[in-house]
Amino acid sequence: MSCHIGFIGLGIMGQPMSKNLLKAGHQLVVYDLRPEPVEEVVAAGAGRGASSRDVAARADIIITMLPDSPEVEQAVLGPEGVLEGARPGAVVVDMSSISPLVAQKVGAACAGRGVEFLDAPVSGGEPGAINATLAIMVGGQQETFEKVLPVLKAMGATVTLTGPVGAGNVTKLANQIIVALNIAAMGEALVLATKAGVNPEVVFNAIKGGLAGSTVLNAKAPMVIGRNFKPGFRIRLHHKDLRNALAAAAALNVPLPLTSLVQQEIIGLLNDGKGDWDHSGIVTFTERAAQVEIR
Ligand code: NAD
Repeated sequence: MSCHIGFIGLGIMGQPMSKNLLKAGHQLVVYDLRPEPVEEVVAAGAGRGASSRDVAARADIIITMLPDSPEVEQAVLGPEGVLEGARPGAVVVDMSSISPLVAQKVGAACAGRGVEFLDAPVSGGEPGAINATLAIMVGGQQETFEKVLPVLKAMGATVTLTGPVGAGNVTKLANQIIVALNIAAMGEALVLATKAGVNPEVVFNAIKGGLAGSTVLNAKAPMVIGRNFKPGFRIRLHHKDLRNALAAAAALNVPLPLTSLVQQEIIGLLNDGKGDWDHSGIVTFTERAAQVEIR
């Protein structure tokens, strides 16, 4: 069934995700603060929205894919935002990775206008967005979930209802902790191997089928060895996710010592001008300390 969908935020992730909705036969209206990605998705068959409000007024399902909590608050709750245009009964699906507390705040504001809300962050990166193989972690009511499930399936391989509004982002934070710590551990391991005179590519191939093997290792070790730090997933976005994880943990009195350690490394990398590098570049913190490059 074809739906009228609004899509706001056409960055690394949003642009290919919106194109997959077009491919699945949905009617799309799109908006981004930057004109270039809008032109590209309009050329692929979408309508051009004048603002978040305009997009919302022309759609039954409004998807946002924005950097962080402040941008989602601005685009949904702010002036010329989604809630100024959305009709009662419409569904807002925020697929950005944001603070679970802000997801609940935005959800409550939507409910106040008779608009349904789901938080539905994703994992799988740019390749998952392009190939429609994202893992989508949803928070919200079962009925709302079922309404938008066919649309989410056009962008992802697995779509899981994890609990009420906010649970999607809690699940995503769990995912981001595991990914960040894996990259940092890979960096320490391959720095040691390289400094000891063992070829890191040989080490990677030797261990990838064993217990240390992982999706993170398979995706990121070749990037590091090939010195390709083009994002992918920007270090500054991972900084944001770990900050949200540490804030949520602090509110619940949960100590996360390993997460805060990697967060400290990332702060150093941001100061080093590496915020727009792929997060595989987290390894360069240890490389610099050890004065060796994994290659
Ligand atoms: P991005 O920075 O490439 O894209 C964000 C887009 O939002 C930009 O085009 C920007 O112009 C637009 N934007 C910002 N504020 C806006 C506003 N108020 N109104 C309209 N447009 C606005 O980011 P991305 O990599 O596509 O990531 C988006 C979200 O997905 C983030 O929360 C990120 O953490 C998450 N995510 C990213 C990846 C990845 O690999 N890149 C993977 C999983 C999840």
